[in-house]
Amino acid sequence: MKVSAQFDGGNIEVIEASDPSTIRLKIRPDSQADFKQWFYFRLQGAQNQACNITIVNAGEASYLPGWEQYQAVASYDRMEWFRVATRFENGELRIDHTPDCSEVYYAYFEPYSFDRHLDLIAFSQVSPLCKVIDLGSTLEGHDISLLRIGEAGADKLNLWIIARQHSGETMAEWFMEGFLNRLLDSADPCSRQLLQKAVFYIVPNMNVDGSVKGNLRANAAGQDLNRQWLNPSMEKSPEVFVVRQKMHEVGVDFFLDVHGDEGLPYVFLAGCEGIPSYDKAHHAVEQKFKQAFMQASPELQDHYGYDKLLPTQANLSLANQYVGEQFRCLSYVLEMPFKDNANLPDSEYGWSSARSIKLGEAALQAILSVLGDLRAA
Ligand SMILES: [Zn+2]
Repeated sequence: MKVSAQFDGGNIEVIEASDPSTIRLKIRPDSQADFKQWFYFRLQGAQNQACNITIVNAGEASYLPGWEQYQAVASYDRMEWFRVATRFENGELRIDHTPDCSEVYYAYFEPYSFDRHLDLIAFSQVSPLCKVIDLGSTLEGHDISLLRIGEAGADKLNLWIIARQHSGETMAEWFMEGFLNRLLDSADPCSRQLLQKAVFYIVPNMNVDGSVKGNLRANAAGQDLNRQWLNPSMEKSPEVFVVRQKMHEVGVDFFLDVHGDEGLPYVFLAGCEGIPSYDKAHHAVEQKFKQAFMQASPELQDHYGYDKLLPTQANLSLANQYVGEQFRCLSYVLEMPFKDNANLPDSEYGWSSARSIKLGEAALQAILSVLGDLRAA
Protein backbone atom coordinates (compact mmCIF):
# COMPACT_ATOMS: atom_id res chain seq x y z
CA MET A 1 0.00 0.00 0.00
CA LYS A 2 1.21 3.47 -0.83
CA VAL A 3 0.02 7.08 -0.66
CA SER A 4 1.68 9.60 -2.93
CA ALA A 5 1.18 13.23 -4.01
CA GLN A 6 4.26 13.60 -6.17
CA PHE A 7 2.44 14.96 -9.22
CA ASP A 8 1.10 18.23 -10.61
CA GLY A 9 -1.10 19.88 -7.99
CA GLY A 10 -0.50 17.12 -5.45
CA ASN A 11 -0.61 17.90 -1.74
CA ILE A 12 -0.36 15.49 1.18
CA GLU A 13 2.12 14.29 3.78
CA VAL A 14 1.98 10.69 4.92
CA ILE A 15 2.09 9.89 8.63
CA GLU A 16 0.97 6.28 8.40
CA ALA A 17 -0.17 4.23 5.40
CA SER A 18 0.48 0.55 6.01
CA ASP A 19 -3.01 -0.61 7.01
CA PRO A 20 -6.18 0.44 5.09
CA SER A 21 -8.10 0.85 8.36
CA THR A 22 -5.71 3.49 9.74
CA ILE A 23 -4.38 5.70 6.99
CA ARG A 24 -3.20 8.93 8.62
CA LEU A 25 -2.28 11.95 6.51
CA LYS A 26 -1.55 15.66 6.84
CA ILE A 27 -2.23 18.59 4.50
CA ARG A 28 0.99 20.43 3.66
CA PRO A 29 0.71 24.22 4.11
CA ASP A 30 1.02 26.53 1.07
CA SER A 31 4.54 27.52 0.04
CA GLN A 32 5.93 30.06 2.54
CA ALA A 33 2.46 30.61 4.01
CA ASP A 34 0.10 29.19 6.60
CA PHE A 35 -2.87 28.56 4.31
CA LYS A 36 -3.97 24.97 4.06
CA GLN A 37 -7.08 23.15 2.83
CA TRP A 38 -6.30 21.84 -0.65
CA PHE A 39 -5.35 18.13 -0.77
CA TYR A 40 -4.81 15.82 -3.71
CA PHE A 41 -3.24 12.39 -3.44
CA ARG A 42 -3.26 8.86 -4.83
CA LEU A 43 -3.77 5.66 -2.88
CA GLN A 44 -2.40 2.45 -4.36
CA GLY A 45 -2.86 -1.18 -3.40
CA ALA A 46 -6.13 -1.08 -1.44
CA GLN A 47 -8.58 -2.41 -4.04
CA ASN A 48 -11.81 -3.75 -2.48
CA GLN A 49 -10.58 -2.97 1.01
CA ALA A 50 -12.48 -0.67 3.36
CA CYS A 51 -10.20 2.34 3.74
CA ASN A 52 -10.38 4.78 6.62
CA ILE A 53 -8.40 7.84 5.64
CA THR A 54 -7.89 10.50 8.32
CA ILE A 55 -6.48 13.94 7.60
CA VAL A 56 -5.29 14.72 11.10
CA ASN A 57 -4.61 18.45 10.72
CA ALA A 58 -7.93 19.35 9.04
CA GLY A 59 -8.79 21.27 12.22
CA GLU A 60 -5.95 23.70 11.40
CA ALA A 61 -7.30 24.41 7.90
CA SER A 62 -7.84 27.98 6.69
CA TYR A 63 -11.65 27.71 6.51
CA LEU A 64 -13.12 25.35 9.09
CA PRO A 65 -16.73 25.88 7.91
CA GLY A 66 -15.45 24.39 4.65
CA TRP A 67 -15.54 20.94 6.27
CA GLU A 68 -19.19 21.14 7.37
CA GLN A 69 -21.37 19.01 5.10
CA TYR A 70 -18.32 18.51 2.92
CA GLN A 71 -17.71 15.37 0.82
CA ALA A 72 -14.30 14.78 -0.76
CA VAL A 73 -14.03 13.82 -4.45
CA ALA A 74 -12.42 10.66 -5.80
CA SER A 75 -11.54 9.32 -9.24
CA TYR A 76 -10.13 6.19 -10.87
CA ASP A 77 -9.71 7.53 -14.39
CA ARG A 78 -8.87 11.17 -13.47
CA MET A 79 -11.83 12.29 -15.59
CA GLU A 80 -14.91 11.37 -13.56
CA TRP A 81 -14.75 12.72 -10.02
CA PHE A 82 -17.45 11.51 -7.64
CA ARG A 83 -18.14 12.31 -4.00
CA VAL A 84 -17.18 9.90 -1.21
CA ALA A 85 -18.38 9.63 2.40
CA THR A 86 -16.56 12.24 4.45
CA ARG A 87 -17.04 13.67 7.92
CA PHE A 88 -15.28 16.20 10.12
CA GLU A 89 -15.04 15.41 13.82
CA ASN A 90 -12.62 16.18 16.62
CA GLY A 91 -10.51 18.33 14.34
CA GLU A 92 -9.95 15.54 11.83
CA LEU A 93 -11.37 14.88 8.38
CA ARG A 94 -12.30 11.26 7.87
CA ILE A 95 -12.87 9.73 4.42
CA ASP A 96 -14.41 6.22 4.35
CA HIS A 97 -14.18 4.54 0.97
CA THR A 98 -13.69 1.10 -0.55
CA PRO A 99 -11.83 1.61 -3.84
CA ASP A 100 -12.91 -0.46 -6.86
CA CYS A 101 -9.46 -0.17 -8.47
CA SER A 102 -5.94 -0.58 -7.21
CA GLU A 103 -5.20 3.10 -7.81
CA VAL A 104 -7.58 5.82 -6.65
CA TYR A 105 -7.16 9.58 -6.45
CA TYR A 106 -8.72 11.77 -3.76
CA ALA A 107 -8.91 15.56 -3.85
CA TYR A 108 -10.50 18.59 -2.20
CA PHE A 109 -12.16 19.40 -5.56
CA GLU A 110 -11.73 18.22 -9.16
CA PRO A 111 -8.19 19.22 -10.11
CA TYR A 112 -7.45 21.34 -13.17
CA SER A 113 -4.01 20.28 -14.31
CA PHE A 114 -1.17 22.40 -15.67
CA ASP A 115 -1.32 20.35 -18.88
CA ARG A 116 -5.01 21.10 -19.29
CA HIS A 117 -4.21 24.77 -18.70
CA LEU A 118 -1.68 24.62 -21.56
CA ASP A 119 -4.27 22.81 -23.69
CA LEU A 120 -6.79 25.59 -23.01
CA ILE A 121 -4.31 28.26 -24.16
CA ALA A 122 -3.43 26.18 -27.23
CA PHE A 123 -7.09 25.49 -28.08
CA SER A 124 -7.81 29.22 -27.83
CA GLN A 125 -4.90 30.42 -29.94
CA VAL A 126 -5.88 28.40 -33.01
CA SER A 127 -9.08 30.45 -33.22
CA PRO A 128 -8.69 33.45 -35.54
CA LEU A 129 -10.52 35.44 -32.83
CA CYS A 130 -7.77 34.91 -30.26
CA LYS A 131 -4.30 36.26 -29.68
CA VAL A 132 -2.15 34.94 -26.82
CA ILE A 133 -0.22 37.70 -25.06
CA ASP A 134 2.68 36.60 -22.87
CA LEU A 135 2.83 39.11 -20.01
CA GLY A 136 5.98 37.66 -18.45
CA SER A 137 6.91 34.90 -16.05
CA THR A 138 6.02 33.83 -12.56
CA LEU A 139 8.67 33.41 -9.87
CA GLU A 140 8.98 29.74 -10.87
CA GLY A 141 9.25 30.53 -14.57
CA HIS A 142 5.72 29.70 -15.71
CA ASP A 143 4.12 31.93 -18.36
CA ILE A 144 1.61 34.55 -17.28
CA SER A 145 -0.72 34.15 -20.25
CA LEU A 146 -3.38 36.65 -21.29
CA LEU A 147 -5.86 35.83 -24.04
CA ARG A 148 -7.22 38.68 -26.13
CA ILE A 149 -10.42 37.66 -27.89
CA GLY A 150 -11.77 39.94 -30.60
CA GLU A 151 -10.35 42.92 -32.46
CA ALA A 152 -9.15 45.75 -30.23
CA GLY A 153 -10.28 49.25 -31.20
CA ALA A 154 -10.90 52.71 -29.75
CA ASP A 155 -14.66 52.22 -30.02
CA LYS A 156 -14.57 48.80 -28.34
CA LEU A 157 -15.39 48.04 -24.71
CA ASN A 158 -12.57 46.31 -22.82
CA LEU A 159 -13.93 43.40 -20.79
CA TRP A 160 -11.62 41.59 -18.35
CA ILE A 161 -12.10 38.21 -16.71
CA ILE A 162 -9.51 36.59 -14.47
CA ALA A 163 -9.63 33.29 -12.58
CA ARG A 164 -7.78 31.26 -10.01
CA GLN A 165 -5.93 33.96 -8.10
CA HIS A 166 -6.37 31.33 -5.40
CA SER A 167 -4.86 28.28 -7.02
CA GLY A 168 -6.89 25.65 -5.17
CA GLU A 169 -10.13 27.14 -6.53
CA THR A 170 -9.93 24.97 -9.64
CA MET A 171 -13.63 25.44 -10.42
CA ALA A 172 -12.64 28.93 -11.56
CA GLU A 173 -10.55 27.56 -14.43
CA TRP A 174 -13.28 25.03 -15.30
CA PHE A 175 -15.59 28.07 -15.54
CA MET A 176 -13.07 29.70 -17.90
CA GLU A 177 -13.07 26.62 -20.09
CA GLY A 178 -16.84 26.91 -20.56
CA PHE A 179 -16.60 30.64 -21.12
CA LEU A 180 -13.86 30.34 -23.74
CA ASN A 181 -15.52 27.41 -25.52
CA ARG A 182 -18.60 29.50 -26.10
CA LEU A 183 -16.82 32.79 -26.80
CA LEU A 184 -14.65 31.14 -29.46
CA ASP A 185 -17.60 29.40 -31.12
CA SER A 186 -18.08 31.41 -34.31
CA ALA A 187 -21.64 30.04 -34.65
CA ASP A 188 -22.73 31.35 -31.22
CA PRO A 189 -24.94 34.46 -31.55
CA CYS A 190 -24.12 35.79 -28.05
CA SER A 191 -20.43 35.63 -28.82
CA ARG A 192 -20.85 37.24 -32.23
CA GLN A 193 -22.86 40.13 -30.83
CA LEU A 194 -20.47 40.66 -27.91
CA LEU A 195 -17.44 40.74 -30.17
CA GLN A 196 -18.98 43.38 -32.45
CA LYS A 197 -18.76 45.87 -29.58
CA ALA A 198 -16.23 44.46 -27.15
CA VAL A 199 -12.84 42.85 -26.82
CA PHE A 200 -12.16 40.36 -24.04
CA TYR A 201 -8.97 40.12 -22.00
CA ILE A 202 -8.89 36.79 -20.20
CA VAL A 203 -6.44 35.33 -17.70
CA PRO A 204 -7.53 31.68 -17.27
CA ASN A 205 -5.11 31.08 -14.40
CA MET A 206 -3.58 33.94 -12.38
CA ASN A 207 -1.63 31.64 -10.06
CA VAL A 208 0.08 28.92 -12.06
CA ASP A 209 2.90 28.42 -9.53
CA GLY A 210 0.43 27.82 -6.71
CA SER A 211 -1.59 25.48 -8.94
CA VAL A 212 1.37 23.26 -9.79
CA LYS A 213 2.57 23.23 -6.18
CA GLY A 214 -0.83 22.20 -4.82
CA ASN A 215 -1.37 25.41 -2.82
CA LEU A 216 -4.81 26.50 -1.66
CA ARG A 217 -4.22 30.25 -2.07
CA ALA A 218 -0.63 31.44 -2.16
CA ASN A 219 1.79 31.95 -5.04
CA ALA A 220 5.40 30.68 -4.83
CA ALA A 221 6.37 33.59 -2.55
CA GLY A 222 3.57 32.82 -0.10
CA GLN A 223 1.46 35.79 -1.23
CA ASP A 224 -2.34 35.84 -1.43
CA LEU A 225 -2.60 37.50 -4.86
CA ASN A 226 -6.04 38.85 -4.06
CA ARG A 227 -4.50 41.09 -1.39
CA GLN A 228 -1.82 42.54 -3.66
CA TRP A 229 -3.70 44.88 -5.97
CA LEU A 230 -2.74 48.18 -4.31
CA ASN A 231 1.00 47.47 -4.21
CA PRO A 232 2.03 44.48 -6.29
CA SER A 233 5.75 43.89 -6.88
CA MET A 234 7.77 41.92 -9.40
CA GLU A 235 9.61 40.30 -6.48
CA LYS A 236 6.57 38.94 -4.63
CA SER A 237 3.51 39.16 -6.87
CA PRO A 238 4.54 39.51 -10.53
CA GLU A 239 1.23 37.89 -11.59
CA VAL A 240 -0.74 40.88 -10.28
CA PHE A 241 1.92 43.43 -11.26
CA VAL A 242 1.85 42.58 -14.98
CA VAL A 243 -1.91 42.07 -15.26
CA ARG A 244 -2.63 45.35 -13.47
CA GLN A 245 -0.12 47.14 -15.70
CA LYS A 246 -1.85 45.80 -18.81
CA MET A 247 -5.24 46.86 -17.45
CA HIS A 248 -4.00 50.43 -17.09
CA GLU A 249 -2.59 50.26 -20.61
CA VAL A 250 -5.80 49.13 -22.36
CA GLY A 251 -8.54 50.19 -19.89
CA VAL A 252 -11.30 48.22 -18.17
CA ASP A 253 -15.04 48.60 -18.77
CA PHE A 254 -16.07 45.36 -17.06
CA PHE A 255 -14.30 43.04 -14.64
CA LEU A 256 -15.16 39.59 -13.34
CA ASP A 257 -12.86 37.81 -10.86
CA VAL A 258 -13.75 34.12 -10.61
CA HIS A 259 -13.31 32.19 -7.34
CA GLY A 260 -14.51 29.27 -5.23
CA ASP A 261 -15.80 29.59 -1.68
CA GLU A 262 -14.95 26.92 0.88
CA GLY A 263 -17.86 27.53 3.21
CA LEU A 264 -21.06 28.53 1.41
CA PRO A 265 -22.90 25.88 -0.63
CA TYR A 266 -24.15 28.41 -3.19
CA VAL A 267 -23.16 30.33 -6.31
CA PHE A 268 -23.11 34.07 -5.65
CA LEU A 269 -21.68 37.43 -6.70
CA ALA A 270 -19.94 40.03 -4.51
CA GLY A 271 -19.95 43.62 -5.71
CA CYS A 272 -18.35 46.98 -5.09
CA GLU A 273 -20.72 48.65 -2.61
CA GLY A 274 -17.85 49.58 -0.25
CA ILE A 275 -15.67 51.55 -2.68
CA PRO A 276 -15.49 55.36 -2.42
CA SER A 277 -16.88 56.01 -5.92
CA TYR A 278 -19.87 53.67 -5.59
CA ASP A 279 -23.07 55.40 -6.66
CA LYS A 280 -26.58 54.76 -7.97
CA ALA A 281 -25.42 54.15 -11.53
CA HIS A 282 -22.92 51.52 -10.35
CA HIS A 283 -25.58 49.88 -8.20
CA ALA A 284 -28.04 49.85 -11.10
CA VAL A 285 -25.67 48.12 -13.49
CA GLU A 286 -24.67 45.61 -10.78
CA GLN A 287 -28.34 44.74 -10.27
CA LYS A 288 -29.00 44.43 -13.97
CA PHE A 289 -26.05 42.09 -14.47
CA LYS A 290 -26.99 39.94 -11.48
CA GLN A 291 -30.59 39.59 -12.64
CA ALA A 292 -29.52 38.71 -16.16
CA PHE A 293 -27.00 36.16 -14.88
CA MET A 294 -29.64 34.55 -12.61
CA GLN A 295 -31.91 34.26 -15.64
CA ALA A 296 -29.13 32.77 -17.72
CA SER A 297 -28.26 30.22 -15.01
CA PRO A 298 -30.53 29.08 -12.15
CA GLU A 299 -27.33 28.03 -10.32
CA LEU A 300 -26.78 31.68 -9.36
CA GLN A 301 -28.75 33.12 -6.45
CA ASP A 302 -28.85 36.35 -4.47
CA HIS A 303 -29.95 35.25 -1.01
CA TYR A 304 -26.76 33.79 0.43
CA GLY A 305 -23.40 35.51 0.04
CA TYR A 306 -20.92 37.78 1.79
CA ASP A 307 -22.16 40.52 4.08
CA LYS A 308 -22.56 43.78 2.19
CA LEU A 309 -19.84 46.31 2.94
CA LEU A 310 -20.72 49.74 4.28
CA PRO A 311 -19.71 52.73 2.15
CA THR A 312 -15.93 53.27 2.38
CA GLN A 313 -15.35 49.83 3.95
CA ALA A 314 -13.66 48.63 0.79
CA ASN A 315 -10.33 46.86 0.84
CA LEU A 316 -8.69 48.17 -2.32
CA SER A 317 -6.01 45.50 -2.18
CA LEU A 318 -8.68 43.09 -3.50
CA ALA A 319 -8.84 42.86 -7.28
CA ASN A 320 -12.51 43.60 -7.80
CA GLN A 321 -12.50 46.58 -5.46
CA TYR A 322 -9.27 48.01 -6.83
CA VAL A 323 -10.52 47.68 -10.41
CA GLY A 324 -14.02 48.99 -9.59
CA GLU A 325 -12.53 52.10 -8.01
CA GLN A 326 -9.71 52.74 -10.49
CA PHE A 327 -11.79 52.25 -13.61
CA ARG A 328 -15.25 53.19 -12.25
CA CYS A 329 -16.62 50.06 -13.88
CA LEU A 330 -18.85 47.10 -13.13
CA SER A 331 -16.55 44.84 -11.11
CA TYR A 332 -17.78 41.61 -9.58
CA VAL A 333 -16.37 38.61 -7.75
CA LEU A 334 -18.07 35.35 -8.70
CA GLU A 335 -17.99 32.56 -6.12
CA MET A 336 -18.78 28.89 -6.75
CA PRO A 337 -18.98 26.24 -4.02
CA PHE A 338 -16.49 23.50 -3.23
CA LYS A 339 -19.37 21.48 -1.78
CA ASP A 340 -22.58 21.69 -3.79
CA ASN A 341 -25.26 24.20 -4.68
CA ALA A 342 -27.79 23.54 -1.90
CA ASN A 343 -30.56 24.90 -4.17
CA LEU A 344 -29.85 22.26 -6.83
CA PRO A 345 -28.10 19.45 -4.96
CA ASP A 346 -26.45 16.50 -6.70
CA SER A 347 -25.48 13.84 -4.18
CA GLU A 348 -23.31 11.91 -6.61
CA TYR A 349 -21.10 14.73 -7.90
CA GLY A 350 -21.87 17.88 -5.89
CA TRP A 351 -20.55 21.04 -7.51
CA SER A 352 -18.39 19.84 -10.38
CA SER A 353 -16.31 20.73 -13.42
CA ALA A 354 -19.35 20.16 -15.65
CA ARG A 355 -21.46 22.63 -13.70
CA SER A 356 -18.65 25.19 -13.60
CA ILE A 357 -18.34 24.91 -17.39
CA LYS A 358 -22.10 25.47 -17.83
CA LEU A 359 -21.93 28.52 -15.58
CA GLY A 360 -19.07 29.90 -17.70
CA GLU A 361 -21.18 29.45 -20.82
CA ALA A 362 -24.12 31.23 -19.19
CA ALA A 363 -21.96 34.21 -18.22
CA LEU A 364 -21.78 35.32 -21.87
CA GLN A 365 -25.48 35.97 -21.95
CA ALA A 366 -25.36 38.01 -18.74
CA ILE A 367 -22.54 40.19 -20.07
CA LEU A 368 -24.39 40.72 -23.34
CA SER A 369 -27.41 42.02 -21.44
CA VAL A 370 -25.41 44.86 -19.79
CA LEU A 371 -23.15 45.70 -22.72
CA GLY A 372 -25.02 48.92 -23.50
CA ASP A 373 -24.81 50.04 -19.84
CA LEU A 374 -21.13 49.48 -19.17
CA ARG A 375 -19.68 52.88 -19.94
CA ALA A 376 -22.41 54.43 -17.80
CA ALA A 377 -21.09 52.72 -14.66
ZN1 LIG B 1 -10.73 32.87 -3.87
